[in-house]
Amino acid sequence: MNKIKKGIPLIDQHDKKGFWGRFGGNFIPETLIKPVEDLTTLFEKLRRDKKFIKERDYYFKNWVGSPTPFIKLENLTNHLGGAQIWAKVVSEANGGAHKIYNATVHSLIAKRAGKKYIVGDTGAGYAGKMLSMAAKKFGLKCKIFMGAKDIKRQKPNCEAMRKNGAEIVPVYTGSQTLVDAVSECMRYWVSNCDTTHMCVGSTVGPNIFVKICGWSTSQISRELYIQIKEEFGKIPKKLKLINCVGGGSSSFGFWNEFMHYNKKQFEFIGVEAGGPKNSKKHAAPLTYGSKIGILHGAAQYVNQNSEGQIEETESISAGLDYPGVSPLHCFLKDSKRARYSAASDEEALKAYQLVTKYENLNPSLEPCHAFAEAIKIAPKLNNDTLIIVNSCGDAKKDRDILKQRLGK
Ligand SMILES: *Cc1c(COP(=O)(O)O)cnc(C)c1O
Repeated sequence: MNKIKKGIPLIDQHDKKGFWGRFGGNFIPETLIKPVEDLTTLFEKLRRDKKFIKERDYYFKNWVGSPTPFIKLENLTNHLGGAQIWAKVVSEANGGAHKIYNATVHSLIAKRAGKKYIVGDTGAGYAGKMLSMAAKKFGLKCKIFMGAKDIKRQKPNCEAMRKNGAEIVPVYTGSQTLVDAVSECMRYWVSNCDTTHMCVGSTVGPNIFVKICGWSTSQISRELYIQIKEEFGKIPKKLKLINCVGGGSSSFGFWNEFMHYNKKQFEFIGVEAGGPKNSKKHAAPLTYGSKIGILHGAAQYVNQNSEGQIEETESISAGLDYPGVSPLHCFLKDSKRARYSAASDEEALKAYQLVTKYENLNPSLEPCHAFAEAIKIAPKLNNDTLIIVNSCGDAKKDRDILKQRLGK
């Protein structure tokens, strides 16, 4: 059984080989050992460098738009009649989702490393769009690897990337989606790491990429901690932080600051994509007990068949459509510090309808998975319990699918 150590950031609780318990590590080709070591040395230096932190905070505040709002969903609370429901509206950040934090930090690191080029992967197009925004802001040339199938179904984000001057590299291998885009991006980095920095779009990949991303998105909980204290004068005793989980970057960032406090009253609930109700396909390796496998340089729970081949996922929300999950979450699951469940496509859609009926909030389908869980548990709890949902994306991007499924 894994044990979480008190007072040490979770991103640092790995062993010398980069493992959090049985998860993570560095399953990389020999040619990447040196670049990964260099990046590790640089990042460990920068995160202790006051000037770098100042620079990060400056851009988070003046470019990303931090802090994002923390609001009470009073009508929804009254309708459900139980726990108080609040939202951290991270979708108000520049670009409309949390991926901007990771993209910004990676671009700042690339500049410090003296790299002129930056590459990244994308599925739904959000990670790519945000990286192209950051690359433009910080004067880097940007290449985005994207599955050919995703390019076809995510046109608006592709247009945004091109407008920001990024080159989109279509990936025709495998299922032609995010899994293959990440693999292809890593392959490209192997032969171009001298001039090029690589950004991985979530808390996945070899150890150092998990760390950089988790460190970046932790801004969310740093802000929230202050906002809660301002609102209530102290941190309430009964707190449930609910977040959707794809790769796991928004959820980890949403929880991190509260994890330093080894308090049982803080409950961390991750909601994965359960897929269509009547389908066996899903994107919920933590919930449905998938086996451990190696994906994109790290050991993790991953959807696979009996031969260990990665299985195709299915979810209404492109942002959660990933067969693996961050080693940090695998570790949290094993240590029982966080609890994971899944919401189906239909439950997410229903949550969308309910939230938008009662509130002036327009959460994308990813956070609607988290709202589905909040709606399920809130009526059973008392008003002294605080449920906070990370509303990490805006539904503007889901316009077509919402129209198709809900007729509006
Ligand atoms: C990418 C994305 C996700 C899933 O990724 P995580 O790394 O789990 O956060 C969730 N919501 C939105 C809006 C996204 O863009």
